[in-house]
Amino acid sequence: MLGFPAQLARAWNCAPKWCRVIDEEELLEGLNPAQREAVLHRGSPLLVIAGAGSGKTRVLTRRIAHLVYKGEVRSSSILAITFTNKAADEMRSRLVEMLGDEAKYMWMSTFHSACVRILRSHADRFGYSRSFTIYDTQDSRRLVEQIEKELNIDPKKIRPQAIMREIGAAKSEMVDFESYREHASGPFETKVSEVYSLYQQRLKQFSAMDFDDLLMVTVNLFEACPDVLDMYRDRFKHILVDEYQDTNQVQNRLVLMLGEVHRNVCVVGDADQSIYMFRGADVRNILEFEKAFPDVKVIALEQNYRSTKTILDTANAVISNNRSRIPKNLWTSSDAGPPIFRYRASDENDEARFVGREIKRLADQEALFYSDMAVFYRTNAQSRALEEALVIEGIPYKVIGSTRFYDRREVKDLLAYLMVVANPADEISARRIINSPKRGVGDVTLAKLAEYARASGISLVDSFPYATEAGAPKKAAIALAELSSIVSELAQMNDSGVGPAQLLSAVLDRTGYRESIKALEAREAQSRMENIAELVSMAGRFGELQDMLETVALVSDADDLYGIEGKVSLMTIHIAKGLEFEVVFMVGMDDGVFPHMRSIDDPVQLEEERRLCYVGITRSKRWLYLTHAWERMLWGAYNNSIPSRFISEIPDELVRDL
Ligand code: ATP
Ligand code: MG
Repeated sequence: MLGFPAQLARAWNCAPKWCRVIDEEELLEGLNPAQREAVLHRGSPLLVIAGAGSGKTRVLTRRIAHLVYKGEVRSSSILAITFTNKAADEMRSRLVEMLGDEAKYMWMSTFHSACVRILRSHADRFGYSRSFTIYDTQDSRRLVEQIEKELNIDPKKIRPQAIMREIGAAKSEMVDFESYREHASGPFETKVSEVYSLYQQRLKQFSAMDFDDLLMVTVNLFEACPDVLDMYRDRFKHILVDEYQDTNQVQNRLVLMLGEVHRNVCVVGDADQSIYMFRGADVRNILEFEKAFPDVKVIALEQNYRSTKTILDTANAVISNNRSRIPKNLWTSSDAGPPIFRYRASDENDEARFVGREIKRLADQEALFYSDMAVFYRTNAQSRALEEALVIEGIPYKVIGSTRFYDRREVKDLLAYLMVVANPADEISARRIINSPKRGVGDVTLAKLAEYARASGISLVDSFPYATEAGAPKKAAIALAELSSIVSELAQMNDSGVGPAQLLSAVLDRTGYRESIKALEAREAQSRMENIAELVSMAGRFGELQDMLETVALVSDADDLYGIEGKVSLMTIHIAKGLEFEVVFMVGMDDGVFPHMRSIDDPVQLEEERRLCYVGITRSKRWLYLTHAWERMLWGAYNNSIPSRFISEIPDELVRDL
């Protein structure tokens, strides 16, 4: 039977006719009283603040389902924010199970994706083209390098990465280049301010935005165009955010701006799991939320449903060493389960072999699937030894997020062609296609061409046919004219509705790129051709070029979690946030590795490392292994190491040595 209000709502025809849930109770089933209260609360902003595995994500999902089911809001009027695209997809598919196909159309995404959607409709109101390009870290870095060159800044003295970090930090606090310049002090900041201002100028000229811009420009757009803000305030009648502890100031501002009027804002988070301080995440946003909405309803969830008592006691013991935290009372009714297993390896290879053997044993003796098991480490470089050991044991595995598929050279080369087609102003991509494949256009010619383009007020791509006028040698001019005609041809194909897969094939055929790959050493050629084939097949899933480029641009490391069925997952702890596994191995539990060397002497950073450790431990449902090595190859040399201080924070009676 339908609940009465839903029946009524349906009778009024504003109801979700497609709802699959047959009973409201079914929606509330499997929720404890506090969770239920969070799902049912109405009338004021809601903050659910609770420890790991206490059902925050579950509550958020059910709350959305409940709102829609009751006919209180249409699914298209909900904005739900998750930390990764993968998490958004999972939440969406759970809602489709509960509610039916209508749930497919909810705005459920990361902050970045939501902002891109908004900007695609309105960026022109703020001086950008709507078909702007999104630059990834590699593209931004190229631009910074180019600017350093132009400004005669020695990249060895001020590394591009350092500049990018500084600009990123500024943007995550909404500091634009003008305010940065005003407050810059000392030689480093002065140089950064010069780069920052030219960098922004160029991005605008290229009609491109970097990752941080997606957020910052959206806020700027809302500030500059109140009608646009009003439209979205009106549209999103409910705003819900998962993992709120990891929002930065800009993201927080977006939430507050959009929710200010109707105040139907629900955020869930755990201050103990805040692990992105280095990216500007600010756990104070949780406290500020209470200030921004004084009538906020705060609900604490205290029961953990994920882990055994031993794992929870371990996590609680470790995190209680952080001073700057509000203590929580997280408990479980689960059994004690197995102890925490500690393995003291002689070196990283011994450690890896142990992990391999143990995975095999668990699969055989405990009848666990490989996909129930995960190995976590602090930094990506630690995966190498593990991979070797797993190969020897014949264990299928996947390394998550180490090298992004879209960062590979051939993939980026081909994508650059598509990016130029989608946005001819994009100079970073134009520079990339000039010499891929090699066309004999040197740096000097390129500089002349760029200068010519700038002086004539045209884009770099549009300057290709004028290479001779720009002072290019004959051979280069011919090559550039040829490239120009290929680009025009591709643009025509795109205009006539040819999809991205066919465009890619045309690039491969017309530019000689395929031949240039075939000319490589056989094994390398094969692996690159495989990547190209994968890219073409991926492109085949899209009808529109813009859609494809957007998806590619917004893929994050954690989205690599697709396709892990039947495999052991290897990943950094940062990526593991929000996930759960029956078995977790945390390797490299040595002081200097985890906590990371950089953090040891800084109490604030050390607390962040401890939170990271808490996140790692609480991913495990039942089996947790902590391993350290007495000697480890680190940064190219063997070092003696001592066990991580985090291990010694665990009560002895919970730990068993293997
Ligand atoms: P994290 O802090 O790691 O993000 P979380 O608080 O979001 O965790 P969930 O992932 O929602 O927690 O839930 C953890 C696990 O507990 C999931 O497997 C979920 O299905 C289960 N769970 C949550 N609430 C209940 C409940 N009331 N009864 C049974 N299982 C529950
Ligand atoms: Mg969660």
